[in-house]
Amino acid sequence: MERLKASLQKIDGKGYKAYKSIQGTYSFQQFNICIDYVQGDPFASPSKIRIIIPTKEFTIKSEWLDSKQRKIYAQDTITRSVANAINKVSTFAKGSGKSGLIAIDAPGQEILERTAVTITEESTTICLSIGLPANGRRINGKEAETLFFRIIPDILTASIFSMRQVEIDESTYLADQHIEIRKVMKKNDWIAFIADGSFLPRESGISNKPLTHAVPFKSPEMNRVSFSIPHQSEQLSGMAIKKGITLIVGGGYHGKSTLLTAIERGVYHHIKGDGREYVLTDPAAVKVRAEDGRRVSNVNISPFINDLPHGQATHQFSTENASGSTSQATNVMEALETGATSILIDEDTSATNFMIRDKRMQELVVKEKEPITPFIDKIAQLRDDLGVSTILVMGGSGDYFDVADDVIMMDEYVPFNVTEDAKRIAMKYPNRREEGKSAFGSIAKRSFLPDSLNSKKGKKSKVQEKGLSTILMGRTEIDLQQVEQLVDRSQTRMIAAILSHLEHKEWLKEKMSLSELLDKIEQQMNQDGLASFTPRPKEHPGELARPRRFEIAATLNRLRTAKVQAIR
Ligand code: ADP
Ligand code: MG
Repeated sequence: MERLKASLQKIDGKGYKAYKSIQGTYSFQQFNICIDYVQGDPFASPSKIRIIIPTKEFTIKSEWLDSKQRKIYAQDTITRSVANAINKVSTFAKGSGKSGLIAIDAPGQEILERTAVTITEESTTICLSIGLPANGRRINGKEAETLFFRIIPDILTASIFSMRQVEIDESTYLADQHIEIRKVMKKNDWIAFIADGSFLPRESGISNKPLTHAVPFKSPEMNRVSFSIPHQSEQLSGMAIKKGITLIVGGGYHGKSTLLTAIERGVYHHIKGDGREYVLTDPAAVKVRAEDGRRVSNVNISPFINDLPHGQATHQFSTENASGSTSQATNVMEALETGATSILIDEDTSATNFMIRDKRMQELVVKEKEPITPFIDKIAQLRDDLGVSTILVMGGSGDYFDVADDVIMMDEYVPFNVTEDAKRIAMKYPNRREEGKSAFGSIAKRSFLPDSLNSKKGKKSKVQEKGLSTILMGRTEIDLQQVEQLVDRSQTRMIAAILSHLEHKEWLKEKMSLSELLDKIEQQMNQDGLASFTPRPKEHPGELARPRRFEIAATLNRLRTAKVQAIR
């Protein structure tokens, strides 16, 4: 403590670079501070420090470590409390550039495994980013002293040191409940569960917070299930969506997309008060949409697309600029290749010609002239041959009535089960479509070649996250704008870290299939943690949160420098 004070006094007024000398570990009364990384100048990305609090100063109950999920939730709760305190405590950023900044990787509505806070039996580690204070490019030692000796202790006093244990207990109860709901879902073959009373709509198109005064969710009688969950006396009831084909219909603006989006996000867990804390979905559910303009490398899209003009092959289809339908076909095939067990589709973001082809069009444009086998002619085979379920929003065409197992109609934000009506109508007006009924077709495996990750010949390139939906690899930009289940910027950062790691480890040399590569990455995340993908895992690893395998794959699949080979 005194040592840090002395150092700061000594370098006060010197050039910014002299800050490097304070790198190291310092013991304070209740905690240690490790200054792992010192920024090069006041405008550069902030310095990274860890605060380590021994259990004698902040007790870690052993129950919080009972399961991995419990631990993640407890860590998440502590992270949020520190984030709140940072917002409350005046940080009065004085000086140039990022002087005085204090930040933690604050979570959004989801509870994700992240590196911001780590608890163990011995200690709690809090990772912060700070802007070391400067005047112009000269060190402001006085302000730095205030930062370390007053502001940071104040933040800790207002957060971790004043947290009540029940707050953390309660978050671990939610973890238990989520584990139980998933267990019940698995046992009963439900791919989605939406509890009665959930609030699905969001405040706005750019906010993930709940909309106030929303109509609460209420399950149709026919789909209603109820079961017990831990830490709650009354049973949880709600709508179960079974494996198979579920169609969501209804008039425009009646809440179809809102329901599907909630289902999409249900692959993650949400905090209490989010409105979707009891909305859960098959963790291997993948939203698929049209994404014209994307790159495609060697994907077998032949189940959906064949005989393109000028004889372009589709068993190993590549393009720098996919069309609406070919991009959507690619997105389906890539999801299947990497292990998706449910596919989620919204008409709003689909290519019409990928979804439907009616009798009249069949007559005008003969099959031989139409490369596309629409999704409607494969959806049943997807279910029957591959065991893959689909949840589909389709308000604009009744063609799917024939193949749906369940039809849910949204009416003024309230769902009704209209399966019988839909089947009756399908009988009354047969759609007379004549194509289809072929087997699903094959899903090819692909392998990413070692030099996929080099943007310049033979040169390793720096991989950086630039916001939620962009990763920069050298000069190549990877556009993840349309990867809708990537929800947290720290997931993007983690994917960037994985890509860097892949270069160094030269994993790609082993010529494994993409799916095997993802298995291996997941295995390392499980066993050694997210930080194991960073250059210095024992230090502040950066602000990372866990992505799913599908979003990691989505990134590789959109990498314009990727070199991909079909296997066999
Ligand atoms: P659709 O896909 O059927 O056209 P959306 O799901 O896009 O409709 O919803 C239309 C609007 O209604 C959106 O602004 C959405 O936020 C709002 N909304 C959806 N569900 C509810 C609800 N349960 N309560 C209040 N507003 C809702
Ligand atoms: Mg819609």
